[in-house]
Amino acid sequence: MTDLLDLTLDELAEITHLEPAYRIKQLFHGLQSGQKIDEITVLPLSIRHALSEKFTAGIEIKETLKSCDGSEKYLYRLHDDNLIEGVFMPHDYGNTLCVSTQVGCRMGCAFCASGIDGLIRNLSPGEMLGQVLSVNRAHGGTLQDRKITNIVLMGSGEPLDNYDNVVKFLRLVSAEGSIGISLRNISLSTCGLADKIRKLADEKLSVTLSVSLHASTDETRRELMPVANKYTIAELIEAVKYYFDKTGRRVIFEYSMIKGKNIDYFDAVRLEKLTKGYPCHINLIMLNSVKEKNLSACTQQEAERFLARLKERNISATIRKSFGNDISGACGQLRRSRLNAKK
Ligand code: SAH
Repeated sequence: MTDLLDLTLDELAEITHLEPAYRIKQLFHGLQSGQKIDEITVLPLSIRHALSEKFTAGIEIKETLKSCDGSEKYLYRLHDDNLIEGVFMPHDYGNTLCVSTQVGCRMGCAFCASGIDGLIRNLSPGEMLGQVLSVNRAHGGTLQDRKITNIVLMGSGEPLDNYDNVVKFLRLVSAEGSIGISLRNISLSTCGLADKIRKLADEKLSVTLSVSLHASTDETRRELMPVANKYTIAELIEAVKYYFDKTGRRVIFEYSMIKGKNIDYFDAVRLEKLTKGYPCHINLIMLNSVKEKNLSACTQQEAERFLARLKERNISATIRKSFGNDISGACGQLRRSRLNAKK
């Protein structure tokens, strides 16, 4: 069954043949407000019935966990009963939703829970949009008064490994008449598929690119991230510079600090070279220890020493505020705990 959230306004008109034309607008408006087909009561019952027989719309929030820091973790159920998750993070300037792009992931990073069972399947554009619309609605948001203002594609999955669907999602979520989140308020995080970073640069979508670097040498990066066997750090940095040249957007590097692995003096020296000559920023992340993995976080003191070392070298860097440690905030943790509970 087609998910109506996969469609642009024009595609919606084409596929539903609704008449008169204002019915299409009513349907689109209802869907974008996060309503299910049968809840869009401005449409006559007969239309709602006919649509429900042929189409689905949106995804279901199965569970919400609230953290004491104001963040929330969402578990969603998809039409085929697969589970995905997301995190809501309140800020002074608005609220950010962390969106998943795949069920599972095939990138196999050593520290990440999302990829432990590999890739189950890609999410459709509508399933990504459904996450945003359902949480906006759960917070009492409307299209005029949005409760989600920012999006980070940092949930489970590798966005650039589901390229076409992610690009369509970016167009849908920022389209006129939709929930209308500005592309400038969206960050896409990638483990570093260099060829796709170049392709994205050519799309002329002004999203912020976040690159999961996590190491300053190819050797260490290969140990942590299998994708490093495909692209060297040098190739990755070339793609990042290309992204900046095409979009004018400052690039963010994510760098999860791992005890004994990637935060010594020489890492700081190498990071200086890698970040020179173009605008970028390093987000240092405290490793979220995942039960199934044997990597440890560094101490707060070690993290601050590393930050100081970067700053001494005039590298723009901050330690990222961590959300939801009490509610399985890191990628893939909540889904895993629910799958394990079923076994
Ligand atoms: N596939 C994308 C999005 C993943 S999640 C990517 O690789 O960028 C967003 C960030 O969280 C990535 O930088 C990822 O490497 C990091 N991450 C995943 N698991 C983590 C953990 N247990 N502790 C700290 N950072 C983690």
